[in-house]
Amino acid sequence: VRICRYGKDEVGVVVGDRVHDITSLYEGVRAERLPLGAGDALIECLPELTPLLNEAVGQTASVPVAECNLLSPVAYPSKIIGAPANYHLHIAEANADDQINAGTIVKTIDHYGLFLKAGSSLIGPSQPIILLPGGRRIDHEVELVVVIGRQCRNVDEADAIDVVAGYAIGNDVTFRGPEDRSLRKSVDTFTVLGPWLVTADEIDDPDNLDMMLTVNGDIRQQANTRDLIFGVRKLIAYASSFYTLMAGDLIYTGTPAGVGQITNGDVIYAEIEKIGSFRSTVAQ
Ligand code: MN
Repeated sequence: VRICRYGKDEVGVVVGDRVHDITSLYEGVRAERLPLGAGDALIECLPELTPLLNEAVGQTASVPVAECNLLSPVAYPSKIIGAPANYHLHIAEANADDQINAGTIVKTIDHYGLFLKAGSSLIGPSQPIILLPGGRRIDHEVELVVVIGRQCRNVDEADAIDVVAGYAIGNDVTFRGPEDRSLRKSVDTFTVLGPWLVTADEIDDPDNLDMMLTVNGDIRQQANTRDLIFGVRKLIAYASSFYTLMAGDLIYTGTPAGVGQITNGDVIYAEIEKIGSFRSTVAQ
C-alpha cells in the first residue's frame, strides 16, 4: 500500500496514477485511538487504518497524482536519524574531495555512529529546496529511508523488519564544511521525503534495491542498497540500542557515491526500485 500526504494536510492512498482521499477515514481511526502515543499520528494509526483501505479506495474521490502537491508522508517524526559514511564508494569520493572531507580522513559508519537531523528541515516533493545565502556548497544525497512503525528499544537484527512501517525516498541535503553534521544537514528544507510511504509488506528485501538520482537529467548517483555497510536490519538494531524508536521516526540509511552540488533552478529526480520516484526543485 502506498500512503501519501498531500494538499493542505490530506491523507491519500495511491493506486496507479491516482490519489484516493482517505482523510476522513483516517480522522475516524485517529479519534477512536485517542490518546495517541508519542509518535507521528498517521503512522501510529496505520495498523488500524491499512485493513480498511481496500474497501475505502473504491468509495472515495480521487485525483491524478500529477495534480497533487505531495507533502512528506510523515509529518512529525520524533527523530530523523542519519547514517554517515555507509557506502564504501561514497567514502572514497569523500576522501578525494577536500570540500566533503573538510580536511579529515573519512572513516566508516562504525567510527561515527549516527547523527540527528532537525524535524523542522523536513519537506515533501512539492516544496522547493531553498539554498543558503553566502555561496556555501550544497549537495544532494539520495537515500533509502526507513519509517519506523511502532515504539521499540533494543531490537534484534532478526526482528528488525517487524518494527518497520514502510519505506520512502530521501534526499539528505547537506552543506559542506567543517561544521557538525547536525547543523549542516538540518537547515530548513534540507530533509526531503517522498513521494509516499510504501508499506513494509511490499518490499521483500530492503537491502537489494536499485536507486538513482539525476540533476537536470544528468545521472549523478546510481547504486543498490546491497552495498550498504550497515544494512537496514543492522541500522535499526544499532539505532534502537541508543534511542527508543517511535512510530514515524525516520532512518536515512546513507548515500552512495555521486554526491554533488545543487544550484538555483535545478530539477532533482530521485528514484528507488519498488518505491517510486519524485522531482524536487531548487530555489534561493
Ligand atoms: Mn546522508
